[in-house]
Amino acid sequence: MSFVNEHQLRQEIVEIGRRMWEKGFLAAADGNLSARIGPDRLLITPSGLSKGFLSPDQILRVSLDGAVLASNHPGARGLKPSSEMMMHLEAYKQRADVSAVIHAHPPLAIALTVAGLPLDADVLPEVIYSVGIIPTAPYVTPGTPDGQRAVSELVKVHDAILLDHHGTLTVGASLTEAYMRLERVEHSAAILLAARQVGELKRLPRAEFEKLCALGVCARQNGLHAAASEELPEALVQQVVTAVLKQMGH
Ligand SMILES: [Zn+2]
Repeated sequence: MSFVNEHQLRQEIVEIGRRMWEKGFLAAADGNLSARIGPDRLLITPSGLSKGFLSPDQILRVSLDGAVLASNHPGARGLKPSSEMMMHLEAYKQRADVSAVIHAHPPLAIALTVAGLPLDADVLPEVIYSVGIIPTAPYVTPGTPDGQRAVSELVKVHDAILLDHHGTLTVGASLTEAYMRLERVEHSAAILLAARQVGELKRLPRAEFEKLCALGVCARQNGLHAAASEELPEALVQQVVTAVLKQMGH
């Protein structure tokens, strides 16, 4: 596995944090971003600071066990890693393919969970294709070890998760990918909420859902993340699609 250099990743965390703040995905000191810099170490944002105005030397270096590693950067002095760090570590421990994790508080995605609504997967083609099923993890007190337990099973097979009454967790092979999944989740939540205000949701036909699902990431879900989708035999893809549809109540 190869990793981009640490300096570059620090810059990227700062840039994506700024973009998240500008897009309104965070308020005050909310949210956190992390990226792998090696198989068992990563960079993570500090707690208590706005993620829209970080500098590269404020990003902390931690081990996969959560220990803060020594840093020569004066800007990191006295800073503590994010209170949601354990949730990030859980994603890295569960998934060798994950190199970046983002936790955010996008308001419309949170509004869906506050209203007790799911982020329906069978409505928007681009969601089915690029993110697949987006489950909602049960409510736990934010910043506690319960957060790690709440996402532990879901993060094995899902790249985007809603956290009930709290926010989102998205993962990716890069920070850009994890960020794009966050953007996709919030954009979809906005469309779903707007549609629900003016009428009933009109779901895509089952055949179209199955087609998009088989082409996209759904084929990797339900425990099949280890296998590349193009290597999956037709029968296995069908099995996954059936399982996903069942989960959705079709
Ligand atoms: Zn949070």
